[in-house]
Amino acid sequence: MTNTDTEQTPVVCQGREAEAGWRAWPARVSRLGNALTIERALPQKQLRLIGPWCFLDHIGPVMFDDGHKGVDVGPHPHIGLQTVTWLLEGELLHKDSLGYEQVIRPGQLNLMTAGHGISHSEESPPDRSTRLHGVQFWIALPAAEANRAPAFEHYAEVPRQSLAVMDLHLVVGRHAGQAAPARVWSPLVGAELVAREPGTETLALESGFEHGLMLLQGEASLDGTPMLPGTLYHASPGCSAVRLQVSADARVFLLGGEPLGEELLLWWNFVGRSTEEIRQARTDWVEQDRPDGRFGQVAAYAGARLPTPDLAADIRLK
Ligand code: MN
Repeated sequence: MTNTDTEQTPVVCQGREAEAGWRAWPARVSRLGNALTIERALPQKQLRLIGPWCFLDHIGPVMFDDGHKGVDVGPHPHIGLQTVTWLLEGELLHKDSLGYEQVIRPGQLNLMTAGHGISHSEESPPDRSTRLHGVQFWIALPAAEANRAPAFEHYAEVPRQSLAVMDLHLVVGRHAGQAAPARVWSPLVGAELVAREPGTETLALESGFEHGLMLLQGEASLDGTPMLPGTLYHASPGCSAVRLQVSADARVFLLGGEPLGEELLLWWNFVGRSTEEIRQARTDWVEQDRPDGRFGQVAAYAGARLPTPDLAADIRLK
């Protein structure tokens, strides 16, 4: 999707000092169009990154009224990141400047690698369900891969692990000796945990990773503390396990990764490392209509592309 914050101030991301245990970070409530409420859990002022994960939107759950078009986000650009889309309910239709058109449904993965530059749109397909519930994340590409060629991957299913009372859907990265097939560029994990029955799950964690957990549905407690909805829980590296007590309908998202160890600039839908890089990407989107444009054209989308937020000349991206 697109970063809809009205005030587009640059965000500097860097790793955090180690802290013990899990700390709660309430998400901000944001809106996408007039139908969708989004809980934006990353970035936050004091928590910019979890490993390479730099953006976390919890979308819905929302029930669309009869006749409502649903989601309609026109073409917009990205650089320097990967977008991970994962749904619990409903459908989304992705179209991009590489020519991909892909409907995603629950249990499937859309992974878009922006690299040097891509543009895409996201819509509710015509034969959509009335409900939509999902998550979309951005993973910052490490410096050595930030300018790679753009790519898009769709997986109709992802690896599953059956744990004590939960199923783990390995969306990206690795967990407990298993690796998901989607291409990522730094050591990380992204997984949905779905309860099969109420009970206690002791989940092994990679102790070199920092981690985040977010309750998407149902009820759960984290090492004995109830998890609040709309809240991201973060732990610094050093955790090798976590104990989850879950209700029968609980769904929890786990993300983690090795601390990136790089300072990033986030502005609008761009992840970069210098003022010049961000300014150039913005200029390239403004001048997008050239036939050889950096971000290509989303030819399959009927409608206007998203306008570019202002980037004041006196803003220093630091
Ligand atoms: Mn997007």
